[in-house]
This record gives sequence, structure tokens and C-alpha cells, in this order.
Amino acid sequence: MPETEILIRGAAAVVTMDGARHEIAGGDVLIRGGVVAAVGQGLSTTGEVVEARGCVVTPGLVNTHHHLYQTLTRAVPGGQDALLFGWLKTLYPIWGRFGPEEMFVSAQVGLAELALSGCTLTSDHLYLFPNGARLDDTIAAAGEVGLRFHPTRGAMSIGESDGGLPPDALVEEERAILEDCIRVVDAFHDPREGAMVRVGLAPCSPFSVSRDLMRDAAVLARDKGVMLHTHLAENDEDIAYSLAQFGCRPGQYAEELGWTGDDVWHAHCVKLDGSEIELFARSGTGVAHCPCSNCRLGSGIAPVRAMRDRRVKVGLGVDGSASNDAGNLVAEARQAMLLQRVARGGDAMGVREALEIATLGGARVLGRGDCGSLEAGKRADVAVWDVSGVESAGSWDPVGALLLCGPTRVTHLFVEGKQVVRDGQMVTIDLPRVVERQNRLAARLMG
Ligand SMILES: [Zn+2]
Repeated sequence: MPETEILIRGAAAVVTMDGARHEIAGGDVLIRGGVVAAVGQGLSTTGEVVEARGCVVTPGLVNTHHHLYQTLTRAVPGGQDALLFGWLKTLYPIWGRFGPEEMFVSAQVGLAELALSGCTLTSDHLYLFPNGARLDDTIAAAGEVGLRFHPTRGAMSIGESDGGLPPDALVEEERAILEDCIRVVDAFHDPREGAMVRVGLAPCSPFSVSRDLMRDAAVLARDKGVMLHTHLAENDEDIAYSLAQFGCRPGQYAEELGWTGDDVWHAHCVKLDGSEIELFARSGTGVAHCPCSNCRLGSGIAPVRAMRDRRVKVGLGVDGSASNDAGNLVAEARQAMLLQRVARGGDAMGVREALEIATLGGARVLGRGDCGSLEAGKRADVAVWDVSGVESAGSWDPVGALLLCGPTRVTHLFVEGKQVVRDGQMVTIDLPRVVERQNRLAARLMG
């Protein structure tokens, strides 16, 4: 049976993110099966045609850090104006009442929000498993929504009674954590090109697990050939904790425990100093930059300009929807651009660089050489943005308009050649029903 073809035709601009960063005016993208068959002008097909006049076509955006379950605890009053540690202590008891249904529904909401904002590949960091919740719940959600998914099996093992931050009821035994890591990798991880699910290992943070668990997770990840992820150097409290508890900065702690390398990426890294940036560059360690969350929690401005200048791999993360509290990935790309300008001046980061971080940059962080650009042979993960609407009316450059003006939602989205968003609506799930179910669960949590 011949593979199905879809031709996205006549875009105002196709942003390829190929080696030369070509942009094609009046460009087409031909999808065959799950891959990009051709990118150019005047392409034809006997299959389906999607008209893209007035649109910018980009590679699907890549989200490298999220906690999908947190869509159920957005804008919680006690956490709205707190710093990181106070914010966590407000939310832990609420998260402790979650179960499998909460994990599944909140993930569907978060994934749909990402899809509508141009995301085709997302990671997730789930580090608490109360009342029978499992990583499997979020993987099932991603299967229905249709996004390419890199769930990470997180963990917390040091509770309050041992000097950690989380309540004892939310932490797990370290042996049980490692056993479940093995289970989910064996059950779900797909190392092949074009994989829709890849699993990573992700103890929550240096302040919620032991040194032993960090080291054991690194050994296990290398044994299984999967990636490692955690939070690092998020704010001043985080640095102070590292100096007091471990006698060193977070970068050194990570290096000592095997947490640097091409198969590791760390979220935030707001407070990395020059030598830590050098370490990340030298070792190929990646960064998930989460500008909205960093603003929301007042954590600071990550030194992304310095990281990029030293060729550190940087991708974007919306971070959890309790610390953003949105999960709009194209808005995150705009915020990344604006925040570097606040720190370093108006020429610190341009639209094209922010788009590169949001696509190719994220794909590199997640070890996906098969994603992140629109080139023949790459996976057909494509976002189509209508820049003919009111937000960008009068703009002189359609690609510039995407981040400087809007829109903040896609018109069409394809993942592995399958349409997930059509004419601005989710086609894989009944979103109004999912939202209604989510609001019912939120009402129940509020009591
Ligand atoms: Zn996070």
C-alpha cells in the first residue's frame, strides 16, 4: 500500500531550520507517511492538500521541561506569590490527593495546550506517584492526544523527617523507585528513529533525593541507554542548599555523580556560573530554559546568551502549569527572547534564534536528531501558523511577526505526519469534554 501524502502548500514562509537556516517564501512541505519527503516550491501530490497561504510553517516546537499533572493546580491562591520552596510546600499536600485519573486528565489538558501552541514533542517530569498513580497514566494520555512524548520517571526520597522538603507521605523508598524505573523503561522506551515514546530517569532535584539515588539513577540510565533529567541551580535558595548540604555548587555536585554528558539535561540552570557553563559546554550537557516559570517564581534570568555563545545545548520548557501557570510554548519562545533583552540589551536575542532554540535546540537537548527541522528524511512534525490575522496585520516580515506579534495558537499541527490540530481545533480528542472533566476534578480537590 502506498504511503499517504499530505502537501502543505504556498506558505508565506517555510522556516526549515536546516544547516543553512533556509527560509522559503511561497514554500511547500510534502509529507509522506511519517516523514518529510520534500521541502521547496511548486511541489505536487495526488494526496491531500493543505493550503497555507498567509501562514508561516515551522518545525514543530519542542518542550524540554514540564510537569503535566500541575495543570490541575493552576493559580492556587496560597502559591501565587511565593518563592520556590514556599510554593512547593503549599502545593505538596494538594498533589498528595491525586490518583491515576488526576494524572491522566491533567496530562491530556497539558498536552492539548501544548499542541495548540505548536508543540509536537514534549518531555514530562513526573516525580510523585500518590494513590496508585503511575507514569503509565501520562503515557496513555499522550497516546490519545498524539504528541511525541518523552516522559521521565521522577522521584523524591528524602522527606521532611530526613531534612528534605517534601512531606514524608509523598516520598518513596529508593529501591522501589529504581525497580519502577526499570519497569517503565522496559515497557515503554523506544530507541528507534521516529520513536513516539522515549523514557528518561529523573530524580526530582538534589534537595529531594539522596546522593546515592542520583548516582544509582545515572548508572541505571547508562545501562539502559536512556537519558537523565533533573532540576538544577534554579534560584538562590537552591545554590545555598547545595553549598550547605554538599559543600559545593550544583554543577560540581552533578559532575561528581555522573550527571553531566550528552545524555543529560537539566531544567532551569538560572544560577550557573562561568565555570559551570564551561562544564556544560565541555560535556555536552543540555539545558531546559523555562523563562516564564523563572519570572513567575522570581528565580532570575538564566544566562542563555552566555550558554549559547559557549555552544551549550539549550531548549525551552514551559515548566509545570502551577509555576507558569500557562503551558503555551510559542509564548515561551517570545518570553525567552524578551528576557535575554532585559538582561543584556535589545540585540541579545532575535526572533530567529528564539525559534531555533524552540525547535532544533529542544530536539538536540532531547537527543532527537530525527526531529527539529524541516528537511527530507526528518520526521514530519510540522506547525502551521496563520500570520494574516489581526495580531500580525501590517507586519513586514511573517517570520518576525510570529514572535513579535502573534498568533499564539497554531492553525494546523502534524506529528509523525498525522494531523493533531486542524483549523485551530484538536482533532484527536474531544477537548471540551476533557476540560469539563478537568474542572470537575479541580473542584473536588478544592473540597
Ligand atoms: Zn520543573
